[in-house]
Amino acid sequence: MKPPPFKYVRPSDLNEVISLLSQHGEEARLLAGGQSLVPMLNFRLLRPSVLIDLNAVTHMDSLAVADGTLLIGSMVRQRTAERSPDVLITAPLVVQALRHVGHFQIRNRGTMGGSLMHSAPAAELPGVALLLEAQMVLRSSRGERVIQASDFFCGPFTTAADPDEILTEVRFHTPPGARTTFLEVARRSGDFALAGVAALARIDPETRVLKEVRLAAIGVSGGPVRLFQAEAVVTGRYATPEALRESGAAAADEVTPSTDLHASEDYRKRLLNVLVARALAEITTL
Ligand SMILES: Cc1cc2nc3c(=O)[nH]c(=O)nc-3n(C[C@H](O)[C@H](O)[C@H](O)COP(=O)(O)OP(=O)(O)OC[C@H]3O[C@@H](n4cnc5c(N)ncnc54)[C@H](O)[C@@H]3O)c2cc1C
Repeated sequence: MKPPPFKYVRPSDLNEVISLLSQHGEEARLLAGGQSLVPMLNFRLLRPSVLIDLNAVTHMDSLAVADGTLLIGSMVRQRTAERSPDVLITAPLVVQALRHVGHFQIRNRGTMGGSLMHSAPAAELPGVALLLEAQMVLRSSRGERVIQASDFFCGPFTTAADPDEILTEVRFHTPPGARTTFLEVARRSGDFALAGVAALARIDPETRVLKEVRLAAIGVSGGPVRLFQAEAVVTGRYATPEALRESGAAAADEVTPSTDLHASEDYRKRLLNVLVARALAEITTL
């Protein structure tokens, strides 16, 4: 299908984008990499009257590190982030997760901000943002506000951003000494995950006890979810196979995935159980 008619604008200045958003509100849509938006337009799931193309806007694709925090512009392409040494050093989880996002052709166009704003239930980057307790920077004619990732993802394809706001930057911080990994199961390489897990752990170098554990799941709920019970089960313990298995079982108990064409609720729980135990094993045996 073809999209319904819309007015197309291609500003080069962020203030112009903000003014257009303020003028058109819900009638406007921002176009970043177009990898999710264009199919939705073609299927007529969205019918904006104005399309604001962000691809000529300057200074939205900057990538910097300040005090150990990665500051990533929303128009940074996923593939650029995946190949950036700065990202690998400061937020390796971003790179570990991006390898699972679609195919490289999609990541060549798809942006960091587009994925976070689209907020698909099985998207990897929202899980990463939740786990790393990322800060989302939004701008509108009312000014700038910063929202914690835990308050940002509100359900399938829904965020806390208002229709007149643009996501300009995301800030990722990895606690010093933390190890991370991202594991998922998809039917075919490049497909959206049936279930996936982002994991972070800090091990006490003296005692080898797990000091801090964070776990987040994708594909098992309307959006990314922190697995607080599974975290609590292993925190303060040695990473024994038994402890990791208990954490996996706790993870499966604390989610209620839906059944759809691709997998049943029970199967998704079983995947999560195994993925949590495997992810913890991977980062605690390095
Ligand atoms: C075949 C295929 C497979 C894919 N597989 C995966 C996968 O496995 N995992 C995954 O996570 N994704 C997957 N994707 C989606 C891909 O990652 C997209 O790139 C991403 O979801 C959207 O990024 P985009 O830059 O293309 O945004 P767009 O499609 O341009 O925009 C998406 C939405 O975000 C809004 N938006 C964009 N930028 C901003 C901003 N700065 N501020 C406010 N709103 C904004 C747009 O208005 C739109 O509503 C796949 C896509 C395809 C086509």
